[in-house]
Amino acid sequence: MKLERVLPFARTLLEQAISPGDIAIDATLGNGHDTLFLARLVGDSGRVYGFDIQDDALLSTKTQLMQHELADRVTLFHSGHENLSSCIPPIHYGKVTGAVFNLGYLPGGDKSIVTRPDTTISAIEQLLDMLAPEGIIVLVIYHGHPEGAVERDYLIRYVKQIDQARANVLLYQFLNQKNHPPFIVAIEKKNDLS
Ligand code: SAM
Repeated sequence: MKLERVLPFARTLLEQAISPGDIAIDATLGNGHDTLFLARLVGDSGRVYGFDIQDDALLSTKTQLMQHELADRVTLFHSGHENLSSCIPPIHYGKVTGAVFNLGYLPGGDKSIVTRPDTTISAIEQLLDMLAPEGIIVLVIYHGHPEGAVERDYLIRYVKQIDQARANVLLYQFLNQKNHPPFIVAIEKKNDLS
């Protein structure tokens, strides 16, 4: 057996949670790799909502989606993910089966524009209300830059206090790797009946 690496594991979790016809969210578009992945998972009857605060991220994502002829199943918002609940149509509340946050800065972009703990946590709180039972939020946490280490500490403190009746919280991290590689926190909403 081979332990699955962190980035592929994030995708495995999303793949298990999201089916054709579902609603999914990319909370940090960046260069659009995750958006493309989600667009394939939801199929032509599903929808992906994507968020980013940078023009460059929206442009790269749009270009990727158009190149792969998947733009028609994705709605992009030039807006912070902390505004999620005012952007997602209420008809989709309780129907989101998967969401991903790839935290930190835009690869190849301005390293001073980073995700921040207060807005990330606000978005997670909003998403927890929107998730379907057993829906999942996958956080890929990059903590090699100074703001990333601060965000990591806030997020770990926050997720540890989520009521276990509300969600299961998983930490997936290799503990002996050099250079602060990213790790995953996954939050699975509990079924009301479980
Ligand atoms: N998932 C991306 C990909 O596949 O290429 C990588 C995302 S990158 C690590 C982080 C992104 O988060 C940056 O593009 C940055 O602009 C964005 N970001 C920062 N603060 C944000 C916020 N409040 N809401 C949404 N996106 C934000």
